[in-house]
Parts: sequence; C-alpha cells; structure tokens
Amino acid sequence: MQSDGRDPGQTLLLIGSPVAHSISPYLHNAAASALGLSCVYRAIDTPPEQLATVISELRSDRLLGANVTIPHKEAVIPLLDELTETARVVGAVNTLFWKGDVLVGDNTDVEGFLAPLSNIDIARQKVLVLGAGGAARAVIYALRKTSAIWIAARRPEQARSLLEGMGISGEVVSLDEAQDSVRDATLIVNATPVGGPGTEDRSPLDWPSSVEHNVLAYDLIYKPSPTRFLRQASEAGAQTIDGRIMLREQASMSFQRWTGHRFPAEVDIPSEQ
Ligand code: NAP
Repeated sequence: MQSDGRDPGQTLLLIGSPVAHSISPYLHNAAASALGLSCVYRAIDTPPEQLATVISELRSDRLLGANVTIPHKEAVIPLLDELTETARVVGAVNTLFWKGDVLVGDNTDVEGFLAPLSNIDIARQKVLVLGAGGAARAVIYALRKTSAIWIAARRPEQARSLLEGMGISGEVVSLDEAQDSVRDATLIVNATPVGGPGTEDRSPLDWPSSVEHNVLAYDLIYKPSPTRFLRQASEAGAQTIDGRIMLREQASMSFQRWTGHRFPAEVDIPSEQ
C-alpha cells in the first residue's frame, strides 16, 4: 500500500502536462466502477524534467499502468523496456502496460481512429490527411493500405519525413493544393487542431458548396462537435465523423491492456464535453 492508502497494483496514471482538463480520469474511473474493479485512475501533471522520476516510481511501486500524453509521447520511449510494433512504427506511445516484468509502450490511437471506420473498405479509399503531427502519424499508419494518400501540411518537410519514416508512398501537398484533392479524395481527415478550442470559427479546408462523389469527412477534434470543417462537409453532401468515438475507443483499448476489459456500453463521453 502507498502512504495514502492506495494499492499501487491498482493505480493507473495519466502522465502529461497539462492534464487538469483531461476527460480520461472520468472515463477510466467510471469504467472501473461499472465493472466493480478496484483500480483508480488519476492524472498527475508531469513537467518534462520529472518524467524519468515518474516512470521510475511507476516501476518501483509496480503500478498497474499509465497513459502518456502531450508532451511526453515520444520522450517516454527511451525509458521503456519494449514497444509494440504499432508504437515503434508510429514513433509515439500513449499507453504503458506490463508484460510480466517488462514495461511495454503501446499506441492505441491507431485502433481508436479505425473504430468508426469498421464498415468501410480501407484499401479502396483515396485519403487526404490534413496535418503531419503526432495524431497524423497514427492516422497515416492506420491508413497505410489505402490506394492513394495525400498529406497536406504547412511544413512539407515534416510530412515527407513522416512518410519516409514509415516507408509509405504518398504525395505531399500544401494546404492550398489540398483544395484540389477534395474532388478526388474519398476520405478526408483533419489531424490539425484548427477548428478546436480557440479556433472554432476556422476550418483547415474550404469545402466546395457541393461534392459530386461519396466522401467521408473525419475530424479528430472532439470539441466542439461538429467543427466548422464537419459542418461545411455536411452542407456539401459529405458523410461526417467527429473525434468522440476515437477518444472513447483509444481509452477503452488502453483499459483493456490493463484490466482485460473494454469499457462497458454505458461509459461514454458526457455530451457537454
Ligand atoms: P500536433 O502533434 O501538435 O500536430 C498538429 C499538426 O497540425 C502539425 O502538423 C501542425 O503543423 C499542424 N497545424 C497546427 N496548427 C495549424 C494551423 N493553424 N494551420 C495548419 N496546420 C496546423 O498535434 P496532434 O497531437 O497531432 O493533435 C492534432 C489534433 O488531433 C488535436 O486537435 C487533438 O486534440 C486531436 N486528437 C484527437 C484525438 C482523439 O482521440 N479524438 C487523439 C489525438 C489527437 P506544425 O507542426 O507546423 O505546427
């Protein structure tokens, strides 16, 4: 037992900074409660200079596991014993779990992203991804078997190194050129923060007034919902998916790594989130 009376073997952490507004403690604690499990999930604000100490304590106290978020998803890698294949190729970790005595880093954003796409044939899609940051890496890895992929980024060299690092062939375009790809793409993913908190009146792409073909617009942003990007897409005749399913599913996959259980159906993101 820890000095505060908690059982370390039942303690889960969210390691990041800032973490105060994270929905993760709510989701994981609601799932544990619904399933009658005694694990407790808490967020600890961890500045970069404290990351190594927190991971060392997680090991010595033998905590049940952790999520890792901004800004530590890459920095945590050298502190772990092993990576899953997905985390290795994506180059980012969001979940820590034990395999025996081995501390493993995994990335559940990939499965989370794919969750609402289970009924589409990924291999037949022509994909336009906006952004080339951490989430875009998970998206592009998830979509690596598509028939065509364009990445639109304000820093083309970032997009090129992302594709090269994963050994995926695709075309890098500017955000302006991305407008031309809209008529060819069948799946358009916003993996930039544009349209999220503080930029609600903006969209990373101007949709035409109508689209002639079947196209699915997917915004990783979960708040607000819908974003301006999704509203315009819907007005143009596209199908839309917001980031809420991905958010819930990547959390549920992490929970499964630790407890063997997925989230029960009643555990969901509150509508005011
Ligand atoms: P990130 O690593 O900071 O990457 C953001 C990307 O967007 C970078 O390529 C960045 O370019 C680009 N970008 C930023 N501002 C831009 C602007 N004004 N115009 C054009 N491009 C811009 O962030 P991330 O972790 O990938 O997250 C991206 C978004 O996905 C966030 O809104 C996040 O909340 C969301 N997300 C959602 C989930 C979910 O579960 N639903 C999971 C992960 C992420 P520069 O590098 O040049 O700045």
